[in-house]
Amino acid sequence: MSQTNPTIVRTRFAPSPSGPLHVGGARTALFCWAYAKAHGGSFILRIEDTDQKRSSDAACQALMHDLRWLGIDWDEGPEFDGIGGGDFGPYFCSKRLDIYHKYIDQLLDEGKAYRAFETPQDLDAARNDAKRQKHNYRYDRSALKLDQATIQAYLDEGRPYVVRFKLPNDEPILVRDEVRGEVTVDPKEMDDFVILKADGYPTYHFAVVVDDELMDITHVIRGQEHLNNTAKHVLLQDALGFRRPVFAHLSLIFNPDGSKMSKRDKDKALRSAVREENIQSSPTPTISDETWQWWSQSKDHQLDLDDTVALADALNLVLPEIDVDDFRRAGYLPQVLVNYLALLGWSPGNDVEKFDRAFLIEHFDLDRIIKSHAKFDRDKLLAFNLDAIQAMSPKQFRDLWYAHCREYHPKFVEELSPEQFDMLAAANQSRSKTLDDTVKSSQFFIMADDAIEYEQTKAVRKALCNGDPSGYDHLAAIKPLLADLTDWTKDAIEPVVDKYSKEHANGKLGKVAQPLRIAVSGSTVSPAIFETLAILGREAVVNRITRCLANRQQFLDTSNA
Ligand code: GLU
Repeated sequence: MSQTNPTIVRTRFAPSPSGPLHVGGARTALFCWAYAKAHGGSFILRIEDTDQKRSSDAACQALMHDLRWLGIDWDEGPEFDGIGGGDFGPYFCSKRLDIYHKYIDQLLDEGKAYRAFETPQDLDAARNDAKRQKHNYRYDRSALKLDQATIQAYLDEGRPYVVRFKLPNDEPILVRDEVRGEVTVDPKEMDDFVILKADGYPTYHFAVVVDDELMDITHVIRGQEHLNNTAKHVLLQDALGFRRPVFAHLSLIFNPDGSKMSKRDKDKALRSAVREENIQSSPTPTISDETWQWWSQSKDHQLDLDDTVALADALNLVLPEIDVDDFRRAGYLPQVLVNYLALLGWSPGNDVEKFDRAFLIEHFDLDRIIKSHAKFDRDKLLAFNLDAIQAMSPKQFRDLWYAHCREYHPKFVEELSPEQFDMLAAANQSRSKTLDDTVKSSQFFIMADDAIEYEQTKAVRKALCNGDPSGYDHLAAIKPLLADLTDWTKDAIEPVVDKYSKEHANGKLGKVAQPLRIAVSGSTVSPAIFETLAILGREAVVNRITRCLANRQQFLDTSNA
């Protein structure tokens, strides 16, 4: 069947809703979207829920939420959050069973497919035999030897069966790919593959071919891991008399250390931390001993998301971001992630690296897709994110930080007054690489005064104890000056502290500011000191200085010990 000359471009992203949307999937969706938009076409979202056991509605909703967050909106597809619908639905494979059955029947009638009644146990035994004899397993076509009467008898007794596609011949299968050129696949590497499962659902291979045809898909852009599948798909397309879309297979994405980026990277990070620290039993009550044992037994055993996060927390480990949701939680901006994803296997040329959606749409084409593997460089992404945050207006940053906190750290919204929140956002912007960056070092703003713990570090000790007067002495002396201040604003606090340090610390503001910072926060990291004091309010500042001073002896004792 010859390649069609598509006039209206229609691309599709066809995820299986079996887990979170990861970077690779998001990159595929973005390329499909960008190509359609760049060519005045339509981008379709189709949910490939052919594997009933692994598909879930929750995963499907999360996936659509992630795409929307990235701004990868579909012109047609499931209805979600005000978009979707279309004339080519339903857009869920599970709702298209009658359509698949019609084409299965067509292939059966034409003798291009056949029913096979072997049980999973029969097939396992045959596979094991092949393994023992050290040759590749291929289905032996026993079912083709069954006569019509036997088949009918099996059907009458309700015996389960699958439908297999009958490979037409042994001729090499040619796949023309826009990225990889002409690829030839030897049909001996495959066998009469299953197109309809015993549960009445089509396999992915069959559904994808039928759906791409009926949805008028002109360009199939997907990950390289599907290249071998494509050989099966073109055979099915030819057998069904379908058009052949343009194929483009995107290279794999690698970590900077050369390993393939995968959803297992989080598990790998956990395992290596556990190994390094020689941890033998669950360090968190969230994970039961039983679960811990099970997880420890095999690399194939993966903790669920909650347990993964709990274990990482217990180990004080920052997990590598893999899923779109990881990046959102970590405070990356969607437009930055989209920009970065676009560079994973594509480039607009002329060393241009930073661009927005409009630029992407204007310049995206398949001929600039790179054949070699893409490298996921988190440092570069982080640098992009930092630049984008620093380029924002204070209001833009405040609004985004508010939304981020409301979703992931609601205490900041609940415990701070709106004025305090706005001041904190303003103070945090310049030190934020991501929206989440300053959350940890801002915790002291929402802690009770008596919950502040003083870090037992060299830097803290030096700031509080060294010198004469020491940091503690400065705190004791400046406390009444601050307590007497009537106007509690940054502009009112600054001259008081400045004057004090000129008179009592040789003008070295740090000698006074650092003990103050430690007294109110417990550590040496906070936003600028005058902003910090202004946000906390006089009462909290005075309380915390009092408490820090009261702790003096105890601190000296423990830090000398
Ligand atoms: N459901 C397949 C996947 O998630 C889709 C592959 C394709 O685009 O054809 O990988």
